[in-house]
Amino acid sequence: MLDTRELGRRPGSQRQVSRQVPAPADLGIEVLHVPEGAPVDLDLRLESVMEGVLVTGEARATLEGECARCLEPISDEIEVTFQELYVYEQHQTPHDEDDEVSRLEDDLVDLEPQLRDAVVLALPFQPLCRDDCPGLCTECGARLADDPDHSHEEPIDPRWAGLAALQQDEAPRGD
Ligand SMILES: [Zn+2]
Ligand SMILES: [Zn+2]
Repeated sequence: MLDTRELGRRPGSQRQVSRQVPAPADLGIEVLHVPEGAPVDLDLRLESVMEGVLVTGEARATLEGECARCLEPISDEIEVTFQELYVYEQHQTPHDEDDEVSRLEDDLVDLEPQLRDAVVLALPFQPLCRDDCPGLCTECGARLADDPDHSHEEPIDPRWAGLAALQQDEAPRGD
C-alpha cells in the first residue's frame, strides 16, 4: 500500500518514491517465483492527473525456482516495469468499465495486483538452468549436464522397446 496524500491533487504534480517491500505470497509461478518475504525494490513515479494518480514503477527482486528439464535449483533476478492509473474513488466511470478500473482507496494505492501481473508476464514459461540444458537421462534419471558422456551398457532391446512404451502409457498419471 502506498499513500498518495503527499502528492497533492493538482494535476501535473509528481513525486518519486523508492522503497523496499517484502514480497507477497505467490509472486510468480510455481516453478519460478520471488520467495515470500524476500525484498522487492520499488522505484515509483507518482503523477497526479485529472482522474486520479498515474503510477509508473520499476521493481527488482530475486527469483528462486527449478529447471524445467533437470530440476536443478535456479536463482535469478528479475526486473519489471509497470504502469497503472488509479482512479479517485469519487470519479465516475461508465458502468461497464468499472470492473477494469483500479481505484484509490482512502488515498492509498494497492500495487500488488500490478506487480504480480508484471512479474508473471516476465517469467519464462519453462525456466531452464541454462539455455541448452540437456535434461535428465530417460533411462536412469541422471542429470546429463553433470555427465555428458553418460551412456548405458545395455540399451533396452529394441524388441522390448514397444512393450516398455506400452507399460509407460498404462502407468497411473500422477495427479
Ligand atoms: Zn537444467
Ligand atoms: Zn542414464
